[in-house]
Amino acid sequence: MDAIATPSPAAIELVALTKRYAQGAPAVDAIDLRIASGSYCCLLGPSGCGKSTTLRMIAGHESVTGGDILLENRNITDLPAAARGTAMMFQSFALFPHLSALDNVAFSLKMKGVAKGERQTRAQDLLERVSLGHLAQRKPGELSGGQQQRVALARALITQPRVLLLDEPLSALDPFLRVQMRAELRRWQKELGLTFIHVTHSQEEAMALADTMVVMNHGRIEQVGSPHEVYNAPATEFVARFMGGHNVIQTGTGKVAVRNDHLQIQPTADDSPVMAVPGMGATVTDVEYQGTYVLLGLQAQDAAGANGVSVMLPEARFAERPYALGEDVHLFWAPHQAHALPA
Ligand code: ADP
Ligand code: MG
Repeated sequence: MDAIATPSPAAIELVALTKRYAQGAPAVDAIDLRIASGSYCCLLGPSGCGKSTTLRMIAGHESVTGGDILLENRNITDLPAAARGTAMMFQSFALFPHLSALDNVAFSLKMKGVAKGERQTRAQDLLERVSLGHLAQRKPGELSGGQQQRVALARALITQPRVLLLDEPLSALDPFLRVQMRAELRRWQKELGLTFIHVTHSQEEAMALADTMVVMNHGRIEQVGSPHEVYNAPATEFVARFMGGHNVIQTGTGKVAVRNDHLQIQPTADDSPVMAVPGMGATVTDVEYQGTYVLLGLQAQDAAGANGVSVMLPEARFAERPYALGEDVHLFWAPHQAHALPA
């Protein structure tokens, strides 16, 4: 594409957005970000990296220290939350327990003074959209966890937001329901055609959901890209380590990230010649059976010294040639599978 091509419209654009709560490092440090309209965006990073602060500034629940927030090219930085065109989906346990599903969904319209007939019709329509029309009169306590989550979604959608904001929406659910609900969130986002911005500290959740992942660390953005791009070409050592499944190895020419399923292993005792360079010696320190694969922990010697690394071996490969604790091996990798990291 050449320079005159118009970029796809951004639902949300952050320009040098900054939040400073007190002295010291800002919680959010001059971040720039464009989130494409109709996309599922995950803000991902460790606890305390500034994800929730970023989301709350977009929602209008937190003041901005510097920078701007644009929603479809409108500057919303100083607008009250209700006037922005965003809505926050809260976790299902934030539903009013004494109100029916219908009244929970209609609640914000009631606050706005919308007449009873109209707000009930609109709430019922939304409950139908999330396949809960037949349970509209139930109270949250009479609904399953997944159904409560859908009521929470309908409640957020009643204000007809352009952008839906979700802060760790699945973290209170048990693991089975979490996986089920994340598939539903993804499906709803596509069906509704809305922009979702979803905060999570779970790499797995972000990879499963996102069109665009934004990896944050210490109030800054480390990398923006599709899950495939971020996983296969981590921009920094932080991203490689945080995403998991990678080994960070010091070579003579700098650091590289090598996926643990791309690291090859060969017994040192084996007579066959050592395969392709680059490589390094290592000792097996841990053998974990994981079902479809076996995860080996090893103490390797790279160009900087001792380095703990891991190798993922398909179960059948391990069965052919099991490795024992304390065994000395040689590790190597194909040059094209080593991703260079900036110094
Ligand atoms: P995350 O959601 O990524 O875990 P947060 O945005 O909640 O991170 O927090 C980012 C940083 O800002 C943390 O250091 C946190 O302690 C600090 N922080 C968050 N909220 C407040 C607040 N209301 N007052 C002071 N500091 C805060
Ligand atoms: Mg948070």
